[in-house]
Amino acid sequence: MYTGSESPQAVYTCARCGAPLEVGPGTLITVCKYCGYPNILSSTIELSDVYIVPTQPRNYVIGAFQRLAAGDSDLSSLKLDILDVEGVYFPAWYSQIHVSGIASWYKRVYVKEGDSYRVETRYYKESIDREHIFYIPARHQVTGAGTYNAMAHFAAHMDGAVQLASEKLDWEKIKLDFLGVDLDKTRALESIKDDAVDALREEYRRRGDGIDFFEARVDAVRWVRLVYLPIWEVVYTYRDNTYLAVFTGWDLRCVYRTEPLTAAQRAERVGAASLISLVSGPLSGVLAGMQKNSSLALFVPFLLAGAAYSTARSAFKGARVEES
Ligand SMILES: [Zn+2]
Repeated sequence: MYTGSESPQAVYTCARCGAPLEVGPGTLITVCKYCGYPNILSSTIELSDVYIVPTQPRNYVIGAFQRLAAGDSDLSSLKLDILDVEGVYFPAWYSQIHVSGIASWYKRVYVKEGDSYRVETRYYKESIDREHIFYIPARHQVTGAGTYNAMAHFAAHMDGAVQLASEKLDWEKIKLDFLGVDLDKTRALESIKDDAVDALREEYRRRGDGIDFFEARVDAVRWVRLVYLPIWEVVYTYRDNTYLAVFTGWDLRCVYRTEPLTAAQRAERVGAASLISLVSGPLSGVLAGMQKNSSLALFVPFLLAGAAYSTARSAFKGARVEES
C-alpha cells in the first residue's frame, strides 16, 4: 500500500515533563504516565475542569475484599482464591444544575358508587424547582453496571476530588491507568441538560398513570467537572466458580458483585481485566444506539439504582446483582 502521501504521525509530549504521550484516535485528554499531568489535546476542556479522586493502594483493595468475604457467611476463606485485582481511573462528567418548569400528571382511581365502582381521573400539578447533581461517563465505552454504581456512589458525596494538575498530588502513590476521554465538555453539558429534563419527566410519569403537561428546562449550571474515579475489579473463584466484585478506590466500597461468571466472561476478565482493556480503546466499539439508549436511564442518579441493571450493556446480563 502506498503511504507516501500520509503525513507522519504527530508525536505528543507532556507539557509538564516532556515525556512521550500515548494518544489514541478521539482522545481529548491524556494523562502523562510519568508525572500525572493531564495533557489536553483538543477540546473545550480546561485544565481547571479536570479532577481526580486518588485511589487507595492495591493491597487496601485486597483487604477490603477479604473483609467482605469474611463477613459473608456464603463464602469460606478456605475455598476462596483471588485471581486478579485491577484498577483504573474512569472519567466521568459531573455537573450541578438547576431545573425549573411545570408538571401536570394524572391518576385513575376507582370510586365506589352504591354497589359498583366508577373510574375517576384525578389531575395534579406542581411547579418544578430542583437542584441536582448529574453525571455521565466521559467516554463512550463503559463496562458494566459496576462502573455506573461507582459513579452514583461518588455523586452521593462528591468528596475527595482534587485538581489533577495540582502539584500536591503524590503521583507515585495514586498511579493507575487512565481511561481515555472522548466526550468533551460542550457535548457533556448538552447531554446532562437533556437527561436532567428527561429524568424529571420520567419521575413525574411514575407518580401516576400518565403526564398531562410537562415543561422544564435547565436554567442554571453551577459547575461542570471532569472527575477521574478509581474503580477496582476483583476476580475471584469460590467452589470452582468465578465471580467479580467491583470496589471504589477512594472508600473501598463494594458497589457490585456478580453471580458466577461463565468461562467466556472469566476469560475476558482475567489476564486483561476488562476495564484495563479499554485504556487504549478508540471509538471503534461504540454503537450509536448504545449512547442514545443509555442517556436517559443510565446517566441519572436517582433513576440509576433501578434502571442501570436492566439497560447497562453488562457482561453479566442475566446475572443476579447485589448492591451494597
Ligand atoms: Zn509528564
